[in-house]
Amino acid sequence: MIRTRFAPSPTGFLHIGGVRTALFSWAYARKHQGVFVLRIEDTDLERSTPESVKAILDGMHWVGLDYDEGPFYQTHRFDRYKAVIQQLLADGHAYLCYCSKEELETMRAEQEARGEKPRYDRRWRPEAGKTLPPVPQGIEPVVRFKTPLTGVVAWDDAVKGRIEIGNQELDDLIIARPDGSPTYNFCVVVDDWDMQITHVIRGDDHVNNTPRQINILQALGAPLPVYAHLPMILNEDGQKMSKRRDAVSVVDYADKGILPEALLNYLARLGWGHGDDEFFDMPQFIEWFDLQDVSASASRFDGEKLLWLNAQHIKCADLQRLADLVAPRLAAEGIALADGPALTEVLSLTRERVQDLNALAREADYFYRKREAADEDVAKHLSDESRARMARFAERLAALPTWTAESIHELFKPFCADEGIKMGLLGMPLRVLVCGTAQTPSVDAVLALIGKDEVLRRMKG
Ligand code: GLU
Repeated sequence: MIRTRFAPSPTGFLHIGGVRTALFSWAYARKHQGVFVLRIEDTDLERSTPESVKAILDGMHWVGLDYDEGPFYQTHRFDRYKAVIQQLLADGHAYLCYCSKEELETMRAEQEARGEKPRYDRRWRPEAGKTLPPVPQGIEPVVRFKTPLTGVVAWDDAVKGRIEIGNQELDDLIIARPDGSPTYNFCVVVDDWDMQITHVIRGDDHVNNTPRQINILQALGAPLPVYAHLPMILNEDGQKMSKRRDAVSVVDYADKGILPEALLNYLARLGWGHGDDEFFDMPQFIEWFDLQDVSASASRFDGEKLLWLNAQHIKCADLQRLADLVAPRLAAEGIALADGPALTEVLSLTRERVQDLNALAREADYFYRKREAADEDVAKHLSDESRARMARFAERLAALPTWTAESIHELFKPFCADEGIKMGLLGMPLRVLVCGTAQTPSVDAVLALIGKDEVLRRMKG
């Protein structure tokens, strides 16, 4: 059984790089009828916040990445980590180190002065025939993992290919702090083991942790998962995404009027591809997805493409759902929907024209109240002559026995013929007069939806 996980640290909002990692882990599990686990890595007590946990859970819910197990919290599992640390100590895979901070600083300064890379010199590591220093008073020891002194750690990364790291490059990692609390890499290992994770799919900023984690898993006699390190997402300038410059939180995309399925569709294409296919839904993605098709190099965020995909998803979204998303946006503008046409009918006309939900809300406003026309539209389309013509057209509208897009449409040709004008000289002023903008969908359909009384009222005003 395939088991994957998403393991965010709750130290900020849920950012889009995280969502992409979650998406690939989720899709892999779904594709193989496996299990997708959510694990909150909150061991960093100073940086983890409940707000951030909430942002992660809300964000996962918003994008619709459902998990089968969890959320698990590392802070709830300290007893388990401590038990495993005791086991490693008992088996001789870990040892107590009583170095004080000052000692470590001196060690580092001396190594740097000699031009060496600073690292713990393993003075407390027990070896056959070695005498350890006397245990000092008043120092609580840390626990260090006994990294093998020779050999290489190698794994076939499902994205990056074979990676090998010499053990000489690795330190004797601290796995428990002086207060007994377990450290980050150690918790990840125990969790991946206990949660029987078969595929660790995560950002490639963790590649350096992998050999350390593999060594610990091996010491524990635990099976090794497959590792897949995803390349990072760069901003449009080719730089690392930053909180200050870029919209990186999923909430930002919700606010910008992006549909979650469009964001997922976009993120799926960021570093993964299936031929030229751009527009697809999640069931299709799950069917196509495979780790071997993930690109090993970083990909660049392209806001235009995201908007284009959003437009495609808006065009085929369920209308009632769109209405539920647009209604609060209209309410925020003080627009009451009660007396106007059904919002779903409005959206079925306007959704062809927009790329995001905020624009969809803007396009809906004139169905419920006349929009203030821009001066240039008035100057361009509503001369005195044109206003007089509109008054004549209003009379014909008023005389219509039925009020439908078709009956309105049938007035156009004869009216233009009688006036000796082209359709544009009717359609554009009519739009500006009724809607306050010359940019609307088909004007007969718009008028039909707004309703006869309201149209005639607006044409008088
Ligand atoms: N907690 C880590 C992060 O937020 C992920 C660790 C992992 O996936 O192994 O970057």
